[in-house]
Amino acid sequence: MYLTRSGEFDVASTFMKETGVSVPEHLLGEFCKMYDILQHIQARDLAPAIEWATLKRSDLLARGSNLEFSLHRLQYIDYLIEQNDSVKAINYARRHLSAFKDRYFKETSQLMSALLYVGTIDKSPYASVVKFPTYEQLNMMFASEFCSLLGFPPQSPLYLAVTAGSIAIPTLSKMESVMKRRGAEWTTTQELPVTIDLPEILQFHSIFVCPVSKEQTTETNPPMMLPCGHILANDSVRSLGKESPTHMFKCPYCPVDTNYSQAKRVYF
Ligand SMILES: [Zn+2]
Repeated sequence: MYLTRSGEFDVASTFMKETGVSVPEHLLGEFCKMYDILQHIQARDLAPAIEWATLKRSDLLARGSNLEFSLHRLQYIDYLIEQNDSVKAINYARRHLSAFKDRYFKETSQLMSALLYVGTIDKSPYASVVKFPTYEQLNMMFASEFCSLLGFPPQSPLYLAVTAGSIAIPTLSKMESVMKRRGAEWTTTQELPVTIDLPEILQFHSIFVCPVSKEQTTETNPPMMLPCGHILANDSVRSLGKESPTHMFKCPYCPVDTNYSQAKRVYF
């Protein structure tokens, strides 16, 4: 799957032949299509990408995607700046950008005003307007939207796991040697014994640490909100309530009295 979604089709096919592992036929076809379109984008030919985005318009809109507009925007900018052909740009805008004027009123207005400065755009107030998106940005955006519609994350899961693992290994191996020296053992399978600071691109889920028990909440010990709005882990609320649903206790963070049955599960 990793090889396929990285566009290494020959290697993937040899791998599948030699190992007997297979990737569903329709996914192979879809990823081939994606790489074909990406190559066209790299060669500054946006037509196949625009055709795909038009076909998938309703799915893309449902995701709040800007892909279709961004493709038309770049095509217009290409005519206006790279090809320096304002007539071609105006005609293109009339045919394709006008459909987006309600949803992207500010952007389309700026793009149209940029026409006034052809030749001197770098010194105009619209210099930054025509710098976005670049072909490279659009390439990434296209791959990400294409994968999302197939139900895949924009980045390869293998790449993400290896990257996060490489960042975590030094801390974990240090932790392990400390634990060995103390004769302690790492027993929890669902959580790490230390916090690993990962960059934002590798963060996918919010986590919550109970301020009473200092433990990270889990599926079996989820975060619960008391009527006052303070949130604790389920186990902490239960032990404060002496394991009874009606036993009244004071919230550890404010003077409000409550009981276990009034606590509500919180989803982040
Ligand atoms: Zn409270």
